[in-house]
Parts: sequence; C-alpha cells; structure tokens
Amino acid sequence: MSTAGLEVLVSKNITKQYSSGQIAVDQVSLVIKKDECLGIVGESGSGKSTLARCLLALEKVDQGEIWFKNKALHTASKEDLRSIRRGVQAVFQNPAASLNPKLKIIDSLMEPLDFQKIIQPAFLIGTRHQREKTAEHLLEMVELPSKYLTCYPHELSGGEKQRVTIARAISIEPSLIILDEPTASLDVSVQAKILNLLKDLQQHLGVSYLFISHDLAAVNFMSDRIMVMKQGQIVDQFSKYDLFSVKRNPYTKELLHVFEG
Ligand code: ADP
Ligand code: MG
Repeated sequence: MSTAGLEVLVSKNITKQYSSGQIAVDQVSLVIKKDECLGIVGESGSGKSTLARCLLALEKVDQGEIWFKNKALHTASKEDLRSIRRGVQAVFQNPAASLNPKLKIIDSLMEPLDFQKIIQPAFLIGTRHQREKTAEHLLEMVELPSKYLTCYPHELSGGEKQRVTIARAISIEPSLIILDEPTASLDVSVQAKILNLLKDLQQHLGVSYLFISHDLAAVNFMSDRIMVMKQGQIVDQFSKYDLFSVKRNPYTKELLHVFEG
C-alpha cells in the first residue's frame, strides 16, 4: 500500500499495547489529506497522545501500518526516519518541556534546520548573519519581537514559549504538523490567540494539521473533519458541519453537552 498524492499521512489498523497490558491505541485507521486539519477529540486517557507518538514514530506500533506520503513509517530505518522527520513536525502540550532551558531562543528555533543540515552551523564564518535572519523571520511569523532571539525560555510567558515551538515546527516547511493539546497548558485568554495563530499559519503555509485536544470547541474551531476517540478506538467521525447532526454517536453527544455547558 502507498499513499496517493493528496494523502499526506495514512494509518491502517494501528494498535499499541503498553507493557502494563493497557491497549492505548486499538485498530486506529485514519487519513490526513493535503492542506486539511483533521481533529481528534477524546477525554483524558483515551489514547490521543499515544496515537500522536505512534504517528511520529516516537513509539513503535504493535500492529498496523503508517504511511507518510510514500514512505512506510512502521518499518522505517533510522536514516529513513531522518528524512521523514523533515516532513512531519510536532507541537506538544507543555512548551516549557519542549524547549531546552539552557538554549537561547535562536538555538531552539534552529534545531530542526540544524538537524537537517539545511543551514550551515553558526560557527562557520559567513553563515551567522543568515542564521539570525532566518530565526528573526520565524519569530515574525508567530508575532514575537526579534529581541527574543537572545533570551532563554524562562524569560518568556507560556504563550510566548508555545509560539516559539510553533515557529520551530514550521521552520523546515513540513507537510504535516501534529498538535497534541497545544493550548491545554495555557491561560484561557491566551488559548484563543494561539488557535487563531495556528489557523492563520495553516492558511498561509498550506500545511496539514492533526489537531488533538480534549476540548471539542477547540477541535471544532480548528478542524475540517473530526474523529472521536474513546478507550483507544475511533468511535465516531464526521465533517465539522455535521457535529450537531442527530446521527452523532451518544459519546460525541456527551462531549457536546460539556462543550455547550
Ligand atoms: P490521552 O492523551 O488521550 O490522555 P494517553 O495516550 O496519554 O491518552 O494514554 C492512554 C492510556 O495509556 C492511558 O490509560 C494511560 O494511562 C496509558 N499510558 C500512556 N502512556 C503510557 C506509558 N508510557 N506506559 C504505560 N501506559 C501508558
Ligand atoms: Mg494526551
């Protein structure tokens, strides 16, 4: 099996069981198409983060297939993974944990570019200016001032740190960004700003998103299609316009009640 041109990522019946015996992801199949945002919603413990880690090849699946474009992730070698990682980036819940506290913002921002050797390392004469310009442009994309380049993460607020991880994710122009609860650790007043930024960036860059959250309102705002996860399984899926349809699974309706308050 391989993915057609419009399909960025495909998973087929993937299953992940932890050594504790817990089946965190149970036969999950999904397709993420070019330029779309697929949303995954489910309560805490439903397996969303495990699924994200499997799709990022940070966790090995026990069964099933994962295809990123025409490359098989489930059987990829380390070298294959390096090139696949150029196409898939991630933003996680806790930006403080995603940023090395000892690195200046510029060096955190440039990690993927450095890893992929897209820009020569800073210590090579003649490239420092180019490196700064690139980092400055990335900060501009997430509406942060260039003076932050020389700051350390602890000098930034939670929302600002998350903007940095978003800038880092877009730096190598990935085809797909997996966003696992990107606003869950932030103040409510900051959450909407980050969601709006993510939405604007997606339109501007033409990147696909997998947007994961326990918050149905956030998932509905961001996504074109939504999948509902419960106990490791996909129990409902629909286009965002069908969220309020009578056909929805009872579990989705329960989530909807929480959403509507
Ligand atoms: P979610 O992101 O939806 O909250 P998780 O994927 O984090 O769900 O967790 C799904 C289930 O797997 C939970 O029951 C959780 O306790 C279990 N789990 C998560 N990570 C591990 C792990 N590293 N080892 C064992 N069990 C885990
Ligand atoms: Mg999670």
